[in-house]
Amino acid sequence: ILFRGADAFERAKAIDTVILDKTGTLTEGRMNVIDVIAEEPQGVLSLAAAVEASSEHPVARAIVEAAAVDRDPASVREFRALPGRGVMARVDGRMVRVGRPSWLAEEVSNENSDARTAELEASGHTVVTVAVDERSVGQIVVADRVRSSSAAVVQKLKEGGYRLAMVTGDNEGAAARVGSAVGIENIEAGALPEDKAAYVRRLQATGCRVAFVGDGINDAPALAAADLGIAVGTGSDTAIETGQVVSMFGDPTAIPKALELARMTMRVVQQNLFWAFAYNVAAIPMAALGWLNPMIAAAAMALSSVSVVSNALRLHILSVEDARL
Ligand code: ADP
Ligand code: MG
Repeated sequence: ILFRGADAFERAKAIDTVILDKTGTLTEGRMNVIDVIAEEPQGVLSLAAAVEASSEHPVARAIVEAAAVDRDPASVREFRALPGRGVMARVDGRMVRVGRPSWLAEEVSNENSDARTAELEASGHTVVTVAVDERSVGQIVVADRVRSSSAAVVQKLKEGGYRLAMVTGDNEGAAARVGSAVGIENIEAGALPEDKAAYVRRLQATGCRVAFVGDGINDAPALAAADLGIAVGTGSDTAIETGQVVSMFGDPTAIPKALELARMTMRVVQQNLFWAFAYNVAAIPMAALGWLNPMIAAAAMALSSVSVVSNALRLHILSVEDARL
């Protein structure tokens, strides 16, 4: 865990609400293609892979891996990524788009596969549509695994008294599956990057102090809007640059501990300020007025340092315990 910026501890102490991203944060973000629904599945997969080769998204990696064909990169032009929506590029002159069904429904003329998409999404899978020019040519179904550590992280945060929520750009079905696996009831699905930030601000407007935990470019606006942005280490560079706290383990396991450490550090700083002053404020005037032996006043001054240092050492013990975990 890395705290960045002088006030990261101070911000972390005040947090009472933690919002977690789904894909790549609560889930492993290593997706697998489990089905291709198309007249020509192999053709659709390899066309999609040609575009996704330029994307870092977990969906993209799954598609590229499943297609297992190397296309001449020169045949792919004008690549564009639309965070939270999908990707597009010209492949051999045709405009190929791969992305969330609701985005492509706006772009293509034959989105007649709504019922099938809804059915697959309800079962908890992520579905992307592949379109060539203005026609949908098929759908790719991908699945992700919930991290084995996620349920314990959620449990610890609940024990710490934090309010919890999950936001995702993915569909309701996939979101609900992960939510029930990890134990989060507050779920916001189908959220575009700006919606994630708006959700953070909405909670802040009701008085919540919000930490946002995310890994992707699509999380950058929410990481910036939150009182504390926590970037998960294996995520995109943009997310890591935006976060004030970075989890170096590449998963959220250490986050409950980090928040606890921040709370405790600030408490110790306040206690130490009190102890550093209390002895002296009382002892120096008393010694000056002759009510107290100056030797005892001097000893009290030294003692104040001892209590400050030993109090601070409690944090060291906590962080050493953390390092051993
Ligand atoms: P999350 O919020 O769970 O991290 P994203 O915001 O990254 O998810 O993505 C939301 C949705 O947008 C995905 O479920 C997918 O349908 C679509 N999408 C985003 N990027 C891509 C991509 N490179 N290829 C295909 N689909 C994508
Ligand atoms: Mg993500």
